[in-house]
Amino acid sequence: MIDGAFDVVGAAGPRAFFEHLTSATLSHGYLFSGPAGVGKKTFARAVAHSLLCITPKRTLLGWCGTCSGCTHFEAGTHPDFYASTGQLKIGDRDGSGFHDSEEPTARDLVRQLSMHSYAGGKRVFVLGDADFTREAANALLKFFEEPPADVLLLITTSADGRILPTIRSRLIEVTFPLLSAAEVAAVLERRGLAADDAAHAAAMANGSVTRALAYLDEGEGATRDAAVEWFFAAAAGGEADATGWAARPTLEAGLETVKTLTRDWVALGLGGSVPLLARDQRARLEALPQREPAAFVRLLGALGDAERIARTNVSPALVADLVRMALAPAAEPRR
Ligand SMILES: [Zn+2]
Repeated sequence: MIDGAFDVVGAAGPRAFFEHLTSATLSHGYLFSGPAGVGKKTFARAVAHSLLCITPKRTLLGWCGTCSGCTHFEAGTHPDFYASTGQLKIGDRDGSGFHDSEEPTARDLVRQLSMHSYAGGKRVFVLGDADFTREAANALLKFFEEPPADVLLLITTSADGRILPTIRSRLIEVTFPLLSAAEVAAVLERRGLAADDAAHAAAMANGSVTRALAYLDEGEGATRDAAVEWFFAAAAGGEADATGWAARPTLEAGLETVKTLTRDWVALGLGGSVPLLARDQRARLEALPQREPAAFVRLLGALGDAERIARTNVSPALVADLVRMALAPAAEPRR
């Protein structure tokens, strides 16, 4: 008997709920409800992983990570695990089935539900952000009337009205609360964000990873806008305010924007029909007077230096200033 890993952030309530179940008291279907971006689908996959791990464990939740069940699950090839996202339509083809098709249908699902386990244990179906057409729901009702003993259906939803009452009444509902800011940050860090950026986005996310990701997307758009305005102001030799991008979390993205604009500016000077990277800025770039080749070489050199020192502890404002000096028209040698 091992404890097994159950590597999921947050969801203390659902976790305690499942830990108190046994394979005898586990029902055939659960509805995971709660706000978007709090880990319902992740939790459903973790439950599936737990049930498909064949090593005996102290509770229902957890996996060993080394058995054949775990190996197949982690490789995405477990024949007794099925997952789909979004709307389930009734379907009218008899194609290869749920597991392989791009767009699974209720008929595929019903067919899969009636099959036997390959590995001899549970078969787990996860329907994420589920939405059923009325016909699809009706097709599924047959499953609920006589659920096969080895099947577990996990349905997640953040839109309460989407699950028809006929389906809802046959599932046991488990509610997922909003995450704490620390939990959102932990999820973002697992997705590769630096700790500072993750904490910052988590603070804006109000308990939802989805909102944190949306904030990061918008943040990137704002960084680009700020860097674009700064670039044109600096190239005109005017007052260039770098505070919108020259800050620790956005410095690299801001420099990338400045580099893109510089490259396009050089490309326009070469004439011909060079495709631009910052196409939306073509008119402004064309209006910008060209520089001597030597000035462009200096500017590109300064950008390379800036990228290098941006990775050290040098103040972001200083990095921006280094580029601004190379970008200002005064940097051109007098002729
Ligand atoms: Zn295992």
